[in-house]
Amino acid sequence: MTTAHTSTEPLVVDIAIVGGAMAGATLALGLAKLSATLSATLSSATLARPLRIALIEAHVANNNHPGFDARSIAIAHGSIFELTRLGIWPKLQHLGTAIENIHVSDRGHFGMTELNAKPLGLDALGQVVELARVGNVLFDELQKSSVSVFCPAKVTDLQAQTDGHLLTLDNGTQLHCQLLVAADGANSVVRQHLQQPTEQVNFDQTAVVANVITDQPHQHWAYERFTQTGPLALLPMTSVPSTPSTQARYSLVWALPPAKADELKNADKAEFLAALQQAFGHRVGRFIDVGQRVSYPLTLSYMPRPIYHRCIFVGNAAQTLHPIAGQGFNLGLRDVVGLLKVLEHAFSSNTATEIDLGSSAIVHQYLAARQADRDSTLNNIEFLVRGFSNQYWPLVAGRNIGLRLLSWLPPLKRPVAQTAMGWR
Ligand SMILES: Cc1cc2nc3c(=O)[nH]c(=O)nc-3n(C[C@H](O)[C@H](O)[C@H](O)COP(=O)(O)OP(=O)(O)OC[C@H]3O[C@@H](n4cnc5c(N)ncnc54)[C@H](O)[C@@H]3O)c2cc1C
Repeated sequence: MTTAHTSTEPLVVDIAIVGGAMAGATLALGLAKLSATLSATLSSATLARPLRIALIEAHVANNNHPGFDARSIAIAHGSIFELTRLGIWPKLQHLGTAIENIHVSDRGHFGMTELNAKPLGLDALGQVVELARVGNVLFDELQKSSVSVFCPAKVTDLQAQTDGHLLTLDNGTQLHCQLLVAADGANSVVRQHLQQPTEQVNFDQTAVVANVITDQPHQHWAYERFTQTGPLALLPMTSVPSTPSTQARYSLVWALPPAKADELKNADKAEFLAALQQAFGHRVGRFIDVGQRVSYPLTLSYMPRPIYHRCIFVGNAAQTLHPIAGQGFNLGLRDVVGLLKVLEHAFSSNTATEIDLGSSAIVHQYLAARQADRDSTLNNIEFLVRGFSNQYWPLVAGRNIGLRLLSWLPPLKRPVAQTAMGWR
């Protein structure tokens, strides 16, 4: 699907997005929608032509795609709302499994609580989607859009210039953009080229991810269980024709010390299922099957300032979270929506002249708009990981009392549920 650019001169675009997985693809589609809306409403002095948007992605959507792989993720209610506004969720909703209730517990202790959609007047707290299937839909939508998609193509070089960035792709194509958006994930090549620092917290945990089958239906419950070795999450998934309706498919994310993760990833099926049953208990019935197991080292890394000259970082390129609270893409989407709002505001508040999309004012407005949400999400996640992996008794008592309080005092649940659902 690579856009043909045969000239030896660089292709000039307004915005170039490097990385076309969840963050980059949703941003590209959001920008195409914004451009169409602005073209219909603004004077030609402000927007003389539709925005020229380029998306560069190294991998085609298939099973080996690093961003659209076998993982399932939970998309919070607030994110579904934003994706609907961007016109993206209607294309994805047939892939979603609703989370109607969340059960949170602390293994071996008395603390547990539930978050439920109904008392909040909602149908669902969020939706679970399989990234590989989402990737196919998003790429189909991109092909139909006004975005110039370069895929498979890698950015191998970039030069910061006064009026923008000059990107060189591995097929020799060059692009010049006013604003560069890095959505190229945890090991961002853009960040490395621009020598921008990140701060890292290593939790010394690895996540084992797999689809598991239980002998009881999920009835739209998701589970988060804190164990001594690390948190374990089960997300309800759509059934597959080969799964009887009396059974359920869940996506498992199990954070473990690296050596234990390695051992369980390679254990035979019976051994793995027995260990899982022991760690999780019988709340979802009996674990009867497990699919392919993959592992991800878990760190928290973030850029203190996710901006540079004419450059903005979004999604995992700006911050990579521990999946404990399922907030990675939810936070990345808030980056995307934050950037779209800054750009929309720049156009609608300046009706006289053409806008410089990479101007220092726009880049700094983005930084200011994202600061508080990023800081509080990152702090909350570090607190959760450390607080729930610790066996120091005052902490154990504190978190168990906290979980109990949540179940005894339902009004307290609302802010917790709202945070979990991506409302801020
Ligand atoms: C086990 C696990 C469970 C998770 N569960 C949840 C959850 O329940 N809810 C949630 O919200 N989040 C969850 N997350 C986090 C979520 O998956 C990520 O935050 C999100 O998918 C990141 O998307 P991204 O587009 O920012 O980055 P990535 O997915 O890393 O994509 C980066 C893209 O950039 C491309 N790229 C890289 N370099 C170049 C280059 N030089 N040129 C061109 N392209 C390039 C790559 O090919 C890739 O497609 C989970 C993560 C893990 C590991």
